Amino acid sequence: MKPSLRSLILLTSLAFSGWAIAADPAAPSVPADEALSRLKAGNERFAQSKVSAGQPVAARRAATAQTQHPFAIIVGCADSRTAPEIIFDQGIGDLFVVRTAGNLVDDYALGSIEYAVEHLGSRLIVVLGHERCGAVTAALAGGSAPGHIESLVRAIQPAVAASKEMKGDPLANAVATAASIPAGSSGPRNEPRGT
Ligand SMILES: [Zn+2]
Repeated sequence: MKPSLRSLILLTSLAFSGWAIAADPAAPSVPADEALSRLKAGNERFAQSKVSAGQPVAARRAATAQTQHPFAIIVGCADSRTAPEIIFDQGIGDLFVVRTAGNLVDDYALGSIEYAVEHLGSRLIVVLGHERCGAVTAALAGGSAPGHIESLVRAIQPAVAASKEMKGDPLANAVATAASIPAGSSGPRNEPRGT
């Protein structure tokens, strides 16, 4: 697999304006279109093996030691081949990343996203699916899964069902659908555990 923006699926980018900007006017932000351009350029460098060398440099470490203003939020799969900082050729402090298998979004993920928008100034949210996603493959296969994997599979099932009638590759369709709907919203939530 050659992970690039062409093989990964960039499905959802939402530009937050108005309320989000007003929520924290002190936080610097990069406009959503500029943020997307940075991601595409970084992914092109990655695809061509021309990635930036030596990150993070000392100056960048120092600049981000006290504060952070990530220019994009990435909601991605936990798959080891899809690390956003690597495939978009970004450094420390550039991306606010939320990852779960199957790029599911539960309450904790939503809270993380809202935090980045409201307090860190991020204006672009990218939901990133990818080829050969194991979580989506498991959901597509149906049946039960052991342990908490079952929770993942069940949360992806609505996307599988929604993509069932689509033409083309079933897995690619399910991956695309999983990243284009609020995955996890109709599945089980991770409730805080108390005693
Ligand atoms: Zn995956």
